[in-house]
Amino acid sequence: MQAKQVLKGMTPYTPGKQIEDVKKEFGLTKIVKLASNENPYGYSGKVKEAIPTMIDHLEIYPDGYAAQLRDKLATTLGVDEKQLVFGCGSDEIIDFICRSYLEKGTNTVMATPTFPQYKHNALIQGADIVEVPLLESGYHDLEAMLEKVNKQTRVVWLCSPNNPTGSLISCEQLVHFLDTCPSDVLVVLDEAYYEYIEREKDPDSISLVSTYNNLVVLRTFSKAYGLANLRVGYGVASEEVATYLNITRGPFNTTSISQLSASIALDDEAFIQHSYEENVKNKQTFMDECKALGLDYYDSEGNFLFVKLPTSGDALFEYLMTKGFIVRSGEALGHPNGVRITIGSAEQMKELAAHMKEFL
Ligand code: PMP
Repeated sequence: MQAKQVLKGMTPYTPGKQIEDVKKEFGLTKIVKLASNENPYGYSGKVKEAIPTMIDHLEIYPDGYAAQLRDKLATTLGVDEKQLVFGCGSDEIIDFICRSYLEKGTNTVMATPTFPQYKHNALIQGADIVEVPLLESGYHDLEAMLEKVNKQTRVVWLCSPNNPTGSLISCEQLVHFLDTCPSDVLVVLDEAYYEYIEREKDPDSISLVSTYNNLVVLRTFSKAYGLANLRVGYGVASEEVATYLNITRGPFNTTSISQLSASIALDDEAFIQHSYEENVKNKQTFMDECKALGLDYYDSEGNFLFVKLPTSGDALFEYLMTKGFIVRSGEALGHPNGVRITIGSAEQMKELAAHMKEFL
């Protein structure tokens, strides 16, 4: 048996610490997980109410085309339904992109550090990876990324807000990037944290899709919508790009329960507004606390903050775990000196800041 040569140097995804493991390891009963940028307020009560009514007919395959969700989302976003692709999380759409556009002899350009699945999936396809370090400020070095684009480049990845720094790419920057980048290179704009972007800074990226045939915008129901466990993400692109991604998609990749829940969640604007407002408020308070502790951080438009430390983030990560808080060490994110912390509820963040003070 010969697996692809490229897999020999790779490892499967290693998740962060799990709640049950930390409970057992430290004899704790209460754990606060602020490691995966999940929504501390859960998900829409309307979805919770409807879930019990969705469990009939589990023996029947779902509608792989996700017609009802597709129709609703297309209307909400003001795009044609043929411009959408749904995935088992946006993770899966990242894989569709790599399988549709990358192969041996091609390359793909991305920032570093950024969301690691771009590199992981691109490597599996045998593409060369071109990584461009973020600027000192944590923002994408867009000019340097453009300079790296060459004849072999098929895909460029922009993550905004960027995981793990939280930095945003403005509408003006996006337009400049798209105007400069060759139009036969696919530009992926991963907006997994879109709903958390301050409203005045909304880059209105979906409106750019009608102008730029080579743009695909990725969003997800996993973050602000709080449905990470149901695994629904989507891509918005030109019909041509969406068609290629849909060819790569497996026939029944999202379940009926996921599709219906996402559809109900879309209607609950009050839940998103609440999550947004709490995040803005609690992030500001937490930033103030960090400042008071003498800690610096990157500007973040997401529901997380990357707090910089003079040394590896592992020690703070380990300490907080003994106190029942799971955060993400920068060591695990390709940016060792710091920790990435999801913004939790006001109460959780207050307690966390107190533990950080003890540690320092
Ligand atoms: N993109 C980014 C930037 C992310 O942070 C994540 C989740 N960690 C994803 C995509 C994937 O999210 P999901 O598959 O749950 O939609």
